[in-house]
Amino acid sequence: MVQYNQIMPGEETMNPEAGSGKSPPERASSPNPQTSRHRPDTGQPPEGVSPFSVTYLVKLGELVLKGGNREGFERILRRNLLAMLHARAPEAQLTRHPGRFYIRCGAERAEAVENVLSCLMGISGWARARGTGKTAEAVLAACVEEGKRLRDGGIRSFKVEARRPDKSFPLSSYDICRAAGDAVCRAVPELKVDVHNPGGIISVEIRERAWIYSLGNKGRRGLPVGSAGRGFLLLSGGIDSPVAGCLMAGRGMGLDAVYFHTPPYTSTEALEKVRRLAEITGSYAMGIRLYTVNFTRVQRRIREEAPGEWATVLLRMAMMEAATILARRCGAKCLITGESLSQVASQTIENLACAESRAGLPILRPLVGTDKEGIITMAKDFGTYDTSILPYPDCCVLFSPPHPVLRGNTGEAAALYAALELTNPGGPDRTGLLYKAVEEAELTKCGYYTPRSPVDAAAAPACKAMPSMNNY
Ligand code: ATP
Ligand code: MG
Repeated sequence: MVQYNQIMPGEETMNPEAGSGKSPPERASSPNPQTSRHRPDTGQPPEGVSPFSVTYLVKLGELVLKGGNREGFERILRRNLLAMLHARAPEAQLTRHPGRFYIRCGAERAEAVENVLSCLMGISGWARARGTGKTAEAVLAACVEEGKRLRDGGIRSFKVEARRPDKSFPLSSYDICRAAGDAVCRAVPELKVDVHNPGGIISVEIRERAWIYSLGNKGRRGLPVGSAGRGFLLLSGGIDSPVAGCLMAGRGMGLDAVYFHTPPYTSTEALEKVRRLAEITGSYAMGIRLYTVNFTRVQRRIREEAPGEWATVLLRMAMMEAATILARRCGAKCLITGESLSQVASQTIENLACAESRAGLPILRPLVGTDKEGIITMAKDFGTYDTSILPYPDCCVLFSPPHPVLRGNTGEAAALYAALELTNPGGPDRTGLLYKAVEEAELTKCGYYTPRSPVDAAAAPACKAMPSMNNY
């Protein structure tokens, strides 16, 4: 019988620290490759570690389209994956061959590795794979084993798909499909071939060795985090903004974030909830630095000195201004919000324009054209939804006027905002409330992949596996 774990010794080892107990780089975008020690790859786990009985084949995502830049993208992806594995499955070994990564681990680490792969941006899919020698007999035997897996999973129809980057293999892709289909039908009579609408697909890849798998999982796709600069997320306790952050992480952005709270009007539970959301979002974004800004005095001034119906728009303007200051300090190149056009009064195009007038950086709104139902589907998929719906109100809700301005005029907004003197050092408190709030911001690191971090461990289950996809 063909085993799951067979990889030829001598392949490049990508996890030099495996089993050494060393900490991963704190932030994935700044590792020091000079400190890596290469452990020769013997195809065996380090001493004292249980045998590698599981191999995952990982398919690279959109970055394969990057032409001359591909190597750079692949390097970032590998660095992210290494950092995640260091934290969650330190003994696992990562090897690379053109177009594919392979991860080997003991059975007890399989779940941790699957959690990692479910959070990793920049891969199109992954599967547990059987490695065999490159002979027709071995390949067909492995296909039969995969056929049994499909049958045992209640699947009744299948097809075989074959790729043969190694053209020296004697059978063509078509021949492999035909021979494997026949072999599976003979050995597993419960399965029928259905090339148009198969219940499962058995994949064969003839590469540096033969790889056979079925029941593949869809990856998060997109680009590896760290390949598209940094963005600064305005993170509230709602449903939308964590999704916006996850989506931008999937476009390769590293994230920092700000949460504006209003104690004692907002509770410590509300703050904990946002930290938890930052943990989950951070587990996709390779960690988030979360700034918590106390906006109580700012909100009080708005309430006391501005016309009531303008309160929300003016608050949004103040948030944009404060976020810009922090974002620039973090080296972020844009602000990110969970705004969706016309979702609520503050998000009409006119009111978005008012808010934007105080932003000194481009604002990315990945959800601007998505309705709430679509956002909720994504929130469930990213694992943020259950936390987002915990009932701890945010400052915007508590201070929102009963009849807000719906179509704010930017000129009027600018005049009202200036009258508040939030940032004017010559204003009533002489420092500028907004500057002061920013200076006193508290920093928390959330969602970083560090070994033995209790917060990381808590974030892990949130990264649930994507639905099993046969054709990915
Ligand atoms: P979410 O949009 O995250 O579900 P929400 O619906 O309560 O929360 P909105 O009123 O829709 O918030 O706010 C629009 C956007 O403004 C949010 O997506 C977020 O980017 C930003 N925002 C709102 N409130 C805050 C806050 N307290 N701290 C940081 N950003 C905020
Ligand atoms: Mg919203």
